[in-house]
Amino acid sequence: ALPGLVIDFLGLQSYGDETRSSGVVQITFDLGRPVEDRHVLVVEDIVDTGLTMAYLLENLATRRPRSVRLCSLLHKPARTERQVPIDYLGFTIDDLFVVGYGLDYKQRYRNLPWIGVLSS
Ligand code: 5GP
Repeated sequence: ALPGLVIDFLGLQSYGDETRSSGVVQITFDLGRPVEDRHVLVVEDIVDTGLTMAYLLENLATRRPRSVRLCSLLHKPARTERQVPIDYLGFTIDDLFVVGYGLDYKQRYRNLPWIGVLSS
């Protein structure tokens, strides 16, 4: 029998300058288990242009999961280039670069216990 709830991780990197995604997405490390026949819930920090999630959802679909749902803490609709359905959304935000609560800028500010706007 398949195991119940499993938490797994994958890494995605999208090339571009520091605060903009180029849409050229690479998997830097992959899931440890197949998702075939499984209900998959993707948990993401922020959907900005949508290019990263569009890539991931297409990639996951080739692995024949039973279903895929997307959950994101934040969404910046102003910058949408690829529409991705966010099934569970925390907050819609303006077109600002945010840090904290897990979100980094060059590996910094990830540990802040709140979300703040990076000002230059
Ligand atoms: P997208 O491909 O949707 O443009 O970008 C998705 C990824 O870009 C996110 O998973 C996140 O890593 C990064 N990103 C986009 N906007 C922000 C932001 O405001 N702050 C931070 N720290 N990362 C962001």
